[in-house]
Amino acid sequence: MLDTKQLLDRFISYVTIDTQSDPHSKSTPSTDKQWNLAKKLHQELLDIGLEDVSIDENAYIMATLPSNVSHEVPTIGFISHFDTSPDFSGTNVKPQIHENYQGGDIILNKAKDIILSPAYFEDLNKYIGNTIITTDGTTLLGADDKAGVTEIVSAMAYLIKHPEIKHGKIRVGFTPDEEIGRGAHKFDVEKFGAEYAYTMDGSEIGELEYENFNAAEAKIHFHGRIVHPGYAKGKLKNAMYMATEFVESLPKNEVPEKTEGYEGFFHLTDMNGEVEKAYLHYIIRDHDKTKFEARKELIYKLGQLLKDKYGEDAITVEVNDQYFNMKEQVLPVKHIVDIAEEAMKSLDITPILKPIRGGTDGAQLSYMGLPCPNIFAGGHNFHGKFEYLPLENLIKATEVIIKIAELTAKKSN
Ligand SMILES: [Zn+2]
Repeated sequence: MLDTKQLLDRFISYVTIDTQSDPHSKSTPSTDKQWNLAKKLHQELLDIGLEDVSIDENAYIMATLPSNVSHEVPTIGFISHFDTSPDFSGTNVKPQIHENYQGGDIILNKAKDIILSPAYFEDLNKYIGNTIITTDGTTLLGADDKAGVTEIVSAMAYLIKHPEIKHGKIRVGFTPDEEIGRGAHKFDVEKFGAEYAYTMDGSEIGELEYENFNAAEAKIHFHGRIVHPGYAKGKLKNAMYMATEFVESLPKNEVPEKTEGYEGFFHLTDMNGEVEKAYLHYIIRDHDKTKFEARKELIYKLGQLLKDKYGEDAITVEVNDQYFNMKEQVLPVKHIVDIAEEAMKSLDITPILKPIRGGTDGAQLSYMGLPCPNIFAGGHNFHGKFEYLPLENLIKATEVIIKIAELTAKKSN
C-alpha cells in the first residue's frame, strides 16, 4: 500500500515552490526560480536511493532505477515537468485540503468570494468521498505537472522499498519549461537511453493519449497603398479590406469554438492593420496529416487569389510547421499504449483514449526518437485558480506507474 500521507506531503512540498516559466526569457530554464525545485528534486532522487542521478546546466534531471530481474527487459522511462504555466500566478501557493468531499460548492476564498462549483465544473461530481486539494483562489495549484512529478518519485521510492515487485531498468526525467513549449528542446534523448517513455501530464483519471494535433502557424502580411481619400479613386488600396477578404474566405465553421474531437481548425489569433499595411496570424491544427497539409495549401491558395486581384507584392504568406502528431511515431510500437491500458484496467481504472487537442512534450520527444504517450496525472482545470487535484487520482496514477513497470518485465520474460 502506498503511503497516502507521504504522497500528499510530497505534492505540497513541490507546489509551494514557485516554478512559473516565462515565454519571454531566452535562457533555460526560462526562470531562475525553477532551480529551487530542480535542486530539491535532484537531492530527493539521491535520498530515495536512485542511481545515476544527474542534473545538467539547463536543469534537466535524470535518474535510474536498476532492473531487479535477470532477463532482458526494455528500458522504459517516465517523464514530467516541474514548471508551471505563465498564464496564472504560481507565487505563494497555499493548497487547501478538503477531506471527504460531499458534493456542492467548495469555497476557495471567502473574502474574495471565489467558489469552485460543480454547477460549472461538473467533473467534481465524480469525486464524491475523495480528498480534494484546491487553491486558495489567488494562484494556480500546480498539479500540472507537480502531480506527475510526485507520482514518479513516489512510484520509484515504492519500488525501491518493495524489491518483490519485479521490473526492468527504469529511467526518470524531469524537465523545466514545458509550459512555454520548450520542455523537450534540450532533453538529451540519447543520455536518457530508454526505448520508450510515458509523460505523466494528462488530466482526469484514465486519460491515455497518443494522438495530438499537427500544428502550423501562418503569418500573412497585406500591403496597401495610401492616397489622399479625396483623390483616391482607382489608386488607393486598403490593406485592411484585403485582410478582411482573406478572413472571410476561410471556412466559417472550422474554428476552435465550433470543433471538437478529431475536427481541425484555423484559428485567427492576431490581427492588426491600417490602410497601408495589415497583418493576420493564424494557428492551423489537424490530427490528420493529409487534412493538415490541405489546410496549409488553402492558406497559400487564398493568398494567391488575392495576389491575382491586388498584385503580386500586395500579400506575403508564410506558413511554418510547429509540431506533429505523435501517433505516427507511437503506432509502430503500439504495445506501449496497450501495456498502459492493461495497467489501468488491472487497477479498475477505465482507460480514456482520446486525441489531444493540442501538443505535448511527448509529441516532440516522439519525433526525437523517444516514443512517448501521455498518461493522466489526475488534476483538473489547469492553468488557473480553479485547478484542483483529487488525492485518490494522485494515488491511482502512482499505482499505474508501478503496474506498467511490473507488466513490462512480465511481458518480456
Ligand atoms: Zn503539463
